[in-house]
This record gives sequence, C-alpha cells and structure tokens, in this order.
Amino acid sequence: KGAGRNRFEVFEPAMHEKVVAHSELVRDLRSAAAGGQFFLLYQPQVDLRSGRVTGVEALARWQHPHRGLVLPDTFIAVAEDTGAIDLIDDWALEEACRQLAAWDAAGLPSLQVAINISARRLARGDLAEAVRSSARAAGVDPARLEIEITETATTSCAIEAARALEEVRALGVSIAIDDFGMGHSSFGRLRALPVDRLKIDRSFIAALEPHGESGSIAGAMVAMGGSLGLDVVAEGVETEEQLEVLRRLGCDAVQGYLFGRPMPAEAIDRLLRSALSIDPLTRPTSAR
Ligand code: C2E
Ligand code: MG
Ligand code: MG
Ligand code: MG
Repeated sequence: KGAGRNRFEVFEPAMHEKVVAHSELVRDLRSAAAGGQFFLLYQPQVDLRSGRVTGVEALARWQHPHRGLVLPDTFIAVAEDTGAIDLIDDWALEEACRQLAAWDAAGLPSLQVAINISARRLARGDLAEAVRSSARAAGVDPARLEIEITETATTSCAIEAARALEEVRALGVSIAIDDFGMGHSSFGRLRALPVDRLKIDRSFIAALEPHGESGSIAGAMVAMGGSLGLDVVAEGVETEEQLEVLRRLGCDAVQGYLFGRPMPAEAIDRLLRSALSIDPLTRPTSAR
C-alpha cells in the first residue's frame, strides 16, 4: 500500500502536467493558425544529375507566444486529432504559393515547392480546390507544386485518397510519397496510385555505410521506384558517404543537413544566388 501511495504521488503531478500541457496546446492551436503564429522554413532538394537545387520542401514551425518555437513533432499529431490540421495545411499551401511567387519576382531560377498534406486533410476531398485557389491567388502555375503524402495516408481510405490525388494531379501538381518504407504500400498499390516520386525515409539513409550491406534496402527502393517509372528522393542525407552510396545506387535527388537545414525564405534566396555566382558559366569575370 505504501508503494502504491508513493507511486501515486510520483506519477500524479507529472500526468497532470501532461494533460494540462496537452489541453493548452489544443486550445492554443485553434487561435494560432488565425493569429499568424505559424511560419514556414524551406529545405533544399538537390538533383543528383545536375547538382543543382531544383526544389524545396516547406516545413511548418509554430512561434508560440509563451512556449517559444514549437516543432511539428509536437503539434502536428495534436492538430490531426483536433482537426486544426486542415487550417494549418491550407495555410501552408497558400503561404508556399506566395513565397514561390516572391522568389520568381526576385529573379531566382524556377523552383518546385513541396508541401506536406496530412491524411486527414486529404480525406476531406476538396484538396484540389484549395490548391487551385492558392495557386491562382499567388499567380503561380500549380505544376510548380508538389504534394507530399505519407504511405499511411494512402492506405487508410485508399479509394478516396486516390481520387483526391487524381484531382490534384490533374492540375499538374506532382505527388510524392513521404517517409517511404515506413508504411505498408505494396508494389500493386503504388502502381494504382497517381504518384511521381518516392521519398525514402531517413531511417534507411541513416543506416547507409559505404561498404556495408545496408545499401541493399535503399537500393531495392531505388530499383522499385525505377521500375514503376518514379523518381526517388533520399531524405535525411547527412554525410558525404551516404551521398556517395546514393549516387552509386542511381537515386535521383537528395535532401538533408548535408545540403542545408530547413531555413527561412531569405536564406534560400541567398543560397541560390551564391550557387549561381560560383557557376563558371555565369561568372562575369571568367578567365576563359
Ligand atoms: P517530413 O515531411 O518527413 O520532413 C522531413 C523532416 O526531417 C523535417 O522535420 C526535417 O527538418 C527533418 N530533416 C531533414 N533533413 C534531415 C537530416 O539530414 N537529418 C535529420 N535528423 N532530420 C532531417 P520537421 O521539420 O521537424 O518536420 C517533421 C514532420 O512534420 C515532417 O516530416 C512532416 O511529416 C510534418 N510536417 C511539417 N510541416 C508540415 C505541414 O505543414 N503540414 C503537415 N501535415 N505536416 C507537416
Ligand atoms: Mg515531407
Ligand atoms: Mg519524410
Ligand atoms: Mg516524417
């Protein structure tokens, strides 16, 4: 009994704090989307054939008035449970389109922007409408957008998900399967879905060693993508060794801390300008 009492005393306050913290998050999330507390960071994606940054992934951040910076791993799941995710995803879509137009206006080379869309938002069925209106409002071609969906989003309500994706793709938007390898998509299901790219989950990339056998899983994924006619992107590339293995495997594109962390829009602008200025073809004072 004494032990039971002790446990009660030890656990109760911690649990209480968690419940309070959670309900505060739920409450605050509702006002956050409307109150301008979210912002996007962008992480470069590098095409392995050209070596150039051809796209960026938009990643949401929450600047909470008291808690400071809150990361997606803390708020996305809560937002999915409460339905606030629909607001966040639609806001991210609009914001990413606006940013794309701003980069264009600043004269940057044409980029593709990827936006993460949750299973719940996809299942609502009006994603194509949201994409169309966001793109139109910003004056960008929807073909410059990519929607990232996890494997689980396409397995939970497969028929509705496929239909919603078909509608989005009909606008010219590309579709990427995010965190590929963590879910249950079979070869058959992937073939039936309107998909353009596979993003290999970073857990498989972290396991890559230059001479180890671990390359075989990533290799199988690259081969699978190839035989389905899909481009393959590796997520979470952190080392030159991982990059070398991926190059050898024939991976199409890479994304990870090795090339840049998620960064503000201005930093993407600087990154692309500095890439241009070191290109010998565009360097004005070239000695050739
Ligand atoms: P994700 O879409 O798979 O995004 C990749 C995550 O890996 C990002 O975490 C990114 O910062 C991180 N990452 C990138 N390169 C590396 C690397 O080299 N090493 C390591 N260790 N990590 C790397 P982040 O930004 O915290 O986002 C986490 C997840 O939250 C995302 O995973 C995505 O599923 C979700 N998310 C983010 N923004 C949104 C959004 O606007 N809407 C929805 N529905 N989900 C979002
Ligand atoms: Mg993603
Ligand atoms: Mg991912
Ligand atoms: Mg993820």
